[in-house]
Amino acid sequence: MSTKKFLLEEKDIPTAWYNVAADMPNKPLPPLHPGTKQPVSAEDFYPLFAKELVHQEMNMTDKWIEIPDEVRELYKVWRPTPLVRATGLEKALDTPAHIYFKNESVSPVGSHKLNSALAQAYYCKKEGLTNLTTETGAGQWGAAMAYAAKAFGLELAVYMVKVSYNQKPYRRSIMQTFGAQVVASPSMSTKAGKKILTDNPTYQGSLGTAISEAIELAMATPNCKYVLGSVLNHVCLHQTVIGLEAEKQMEMAGEYPDIVIGCFGGGSNFSGISFPFLRHKLEGNKAIRIIAAEPASCPKLTRGTFQYDFGDEAGYTPMLPMFTLGHTFAPAHIHAGGLRYHGGGTIVSQLRKDGLVEAVDVKQLTTFEAATLFARVEGIIPAPESAHAIAAAIIEAEQAKKEGKQKVILFNLSGHGLIDMAAYDQYFADELVNDDLSDADLVKNINKLEKII
Ligand SMILES: *Cc1c(COP(=O)(O)O)cnc(C)c1O
Repeated sequence: MSTKKFLLEEKDIPTAWYNVAADMPNKPLPPLHPGTKQPVSAEDFYPLFAKELVHQEMNMTDKWIEIPDEVRELYKVWRPTPLVRATGLEKALDTPAHIYFKNESVSPVGSHKLNSALAQAYYCKKEGLTNLTTETGAGQWGAAMAYAAKAFGLELAVYMVKVSYNQKPYRRSIMQTFGAQVVASPSMSTKAGKKILTDNPTYQGSLGTAISEAIELAMATPNCKYVLGSVLNHVCLHQTVIGLEAEKQMEMAGEYPDIVIGCFGGGSNFSGISFPFLRHKLEGNKAIRIIAAEPASCPKLTRGTFQYDFGDEAGYTPMLPMFTLGHTFAPAHIHAGGLRYHGGGTIVSQLRKDGLVEAVDVKQLTTFEAATLFARVEGIIPAPESAHAIAAAIIEAEQAKKEGKQKVILFNLSGHGLIDMAAYDQYFADELVNDDLSDADLVKNINKLEKII
């Protein structure tokens, strides 16, 4: 177990989020209207999202965006989060590398997701809304949003991907405890859900489908908007509190990372830990490697194509330019439910295209092996999603050992796995598989995409 912690005080919680778009050499391409193929305006987004969030989404010029006092006040419930030197892991790997992790698992809901949930609930409340809808995969975002909606006195309806609804019943209970309504998706309560269930009655759901359902309900309900837990620029923006704190904490440790790693679902925690460090690279004064760790069964950044695609399965959203596996891609039912999303988000995708960030894909069994080692030497049981970042950090630490180099590795521990123990049980019972994705299955959905780029 490691005791080398780097702790900040409340006054050190950042006062502004970092907007990497302002510093990007090539800005992301604009979202397009699926009918006209013309760039979507802010007004086009207003029916769906709170206005202030739309403005953040489209802001390509302001480098710093002030964090409202009300949000910063609620961040104090658990922030600043610790930065820990993983001496236990270093010893177990017998590596010359110095490994640090930012511990976002200490939030009241056990993951980084609350950083954006509170911000989104705040702007929706400020706009006078009463109701929100959203989707959730493993339940982490739904839990965070349920907490945030309650904190700002809003009603929340959550469409939860059916496979997780059944595999992770306690996340459902958490959402209900905070007062949210939870529906298993696909459901018969929306046109999108009904169509999918009619075509395929046993379909276990995907984030793409749940998003379609949540959007449909938001559009049909007065005083109601939709909120999303990842992928979009404003979500990545809110998560930069992670990296901004880590930047100060690495200074306290007297080191600077050679490598920064985050697991990758839609990109929010990866952006959060890495963008503040990427800033140094974009300003031209640091050589640093930034690595997104994704599941081998849902490898959009490593094996996907860069193309305009929908954010959801039914095709309700504008088209986003991103690395994608196709919006009809149905990922295997791996336990890292938060990483089962078909696309990569427009900012990260552009950065990947420009060679400013890298990606690695990790097999499910490798992630559980890494998670178990980490738990035994660091005393924290990681979320299956976070285990992808741990596995990638281990690969880099082993490489450093091979090369005899003393590298500094920083990764984000996006969440704990205390509500994912059923997944660990299956791993110990040898019931988990790697769910590799063949090239034939990979191209099936990609080939269906309209070639706009
Ligand atoms: C949701 C989630 C992720 C993946 O989402 P990103 O937006 O890619 O960060 C990763 N880890 C945990 C613990 C999560 O809950």
